[in-house]
Amino acid sequence: MQAKMVNLKINNISVSVPEGTTILEAARKAHIEIPTLCYLKDVSCVGSCRMCLVEATGARGLVAACVYPVSEGMEVRTNTEKCRQSRKMTLELILSKHKKKCLSCERNHNCELQKLSLGYSVDEDRFKGEDFVLPIDTSTPYVVRDNDKCINCMRCVAACRKQNVNAIGPIGRGFHVHIGSAFDMPLSESVCVGCGQCIVACPVGALSENSTIENVWKALSDPTKQVVFFTAPSVRATLGEAFDMPVGTNVEGKMVAAIRRLGPDHVFNMDVTADLTIMEEASELINRIKTGKPMPMFTSCCPAWIKFVEQRHPEMIPHLSSCKSPQQMFGALLKSYWCEKNGVDPKNLYVVSVIPCTAKKYECTREEMKDDVDAAITTRELARMIKTAGIKFTELPDEEFDNPFATATGGGAIFGATGGVMEAALRTAAHMMDGSFEVLDFFAVRGTNPIKEATYLVAGNTIRVAVASGLANAETIIRQIESGEKKYDFIEIMACPGGCVNGGGQPTLSDSVRNNTELKESRAKALYTSDTKNELRRSSDSPVMDVIYNDYFGFPNSHKAHEILHTTYHADKRI
Ligand code: SF4
Ligand code: SF4
Ligand code: SF4
Repeated sequence: MQAKMVNLKINNISVSVPEGTTILEAARKAHIEIPTLCYLKDVSCVGSCRMCLVEATGARGLVAACVYPVSEGMEVRTNTEKCRQSRKMTLELILSKHKKKCLSCERNHNCELQKLSLGYSVDEDRFKGEDFVLPIDTSTPYVVRDNDKCINCMRCVAACRKQNVNAIGPIGRGFHVHIGSAFDMPLSESVCVGCGQCIVACPVGALSENSTIENVWKALSDPTKQVVFFTAPSVRATLGEAFDMPVGTNVEGKMVAAIRRLGPDHVFNMDVTADLTIMEEASELINRIKTGKPMPMFTSCCPAWIKFVEQRHPEMIPHLSSCKSPQQMFGALLKSYWCEKNGVDPKNLYVVSVIPCTAKKYECTREEMKDDVDAAITTRELARMIKTAGIKFTELPDEEFDNPFATATGGGAIFGATGGVMEAALRTAAHMMDGSFEVLDFFAVRGTNPIKEATYLVAGNTIRVAVASGLANAETIIRQIESGEKKYDFIEIMACPGGCVNGGGQPTLSDSVRNNTELKESRAKALYTSDTKNELRRSSDSPVMDVIYNDYFGFPNSHKAHEILHTTYHADKRI
């Protein structure tokens, strides 16, 4: 049924919007952006920060545009003196207890509070709040929390709740309210899975990744080290945003050129080990189908999802693929095969992965595989290194990855989007089961729907698949399997809504971009375009896979492949 339309005026501009629309949303139709701090599309809408206060006919006093619905004939004013003075006062009160360390803050020039303070000409010292200093939480390898910069907007709490993890919440009363884990324990003692969705939701510099940039700079200037960088599939679809390029621009060539100018010995393509993951995972799936080993099989390339299972659903551990993630496979491959082939002592090789993810910082410290990767840096950290090194990113020519790990398939490229691992695995698994199966496009598993399902018939086998992104949706799937409501054979889970393109290590964008852009879709489109342009679309068609298996592993799931490319999981009884 078509929604009833409501007609109103915003700053004298007539707009017509469906009934139930908020003033904030309606204003966008008039091309007017109302300032926000606590509101974030798809994440948080509580009307608590009071930055979006506007005047509206029929309302008593100022109203919060993010939660106030429009009505027929309403007249809204968004920039009256009353609105501006109210917002200015709000900002001055926030600043009264904000640690103003802008010069060294990683959100300098990219901070919502700073942008608004400038716009409203605030006096940052008008009110002097009580001085109390909260400890900075650096207890995890992925998230750093500096609550003295926090403005209590609660976006991080909403992001974590949306993940159904609920590791953080408000603690204390009145002036002493701050965000933390239960009983004010360090984050490392909480149920946090490291997805970093709280970081990308934060409007200020209170949350950031635990940076390892300094270690990477040190390695780059150490003459005894060979330094190798490799970049995850989705980084090329987002890095340009840190240099003001449009969302969804694929900057693969410039990214390689920029990293090369940082001075490593080699720049490799992690899409190669995305292909390798598919070779191993597709073979494992076929083996499980044939032998009746625990089904369904879940993908294992998302470390936040793995942590979630280990903590909350250890009964599902036998269902996780034993494949390491592409990041860990690359590190392990470099320190075994590549070092042997090139006569390099693995001790002298320093491996840097560039990832869209904060959980991968934790993954490379896991006991089972801590020797594979030496430093994992996020897209944001790479952008910072490029800027610090004075590299003119937008002016760079396109350059190519170094051999032998340059060429990858379209299947590897789409790993960064929800459904991408499933589609890549189906391309190869179906072909392995039936050599005449030539389908390359599995449209039903694409797109940003939270849960997607499909059934395929391959070589007489019915394969029921599901794809979920966001941990609340993963929880739904687990409940449905356990209750017997749903039956699947193969399930892809990515912790971040939309997959790695929307990972916790991706560039932080301003509210005006995030609230008005289909971020996940635009970034994913860049990867699918790269897939369709690639002559090689199935991982098993990659010439690099032929070389790696002929030279070293023999065949997928061989004993040697298991030793180097697979891992184990264990229950974590913190709940
Ligand atoms: S990293 Fe993820 S799980 Fe941890 S606090 Fe942030 S949103 Fe919650
Ligand atoms: S840490 Fe950031 S997102 Fe969380 S409440 Fe503070 S300012 Fe808001
Ligand atoms: S979905 Fe991707 S970015 Fe997000 S936690 Fe998992 S691996 Fe990391």
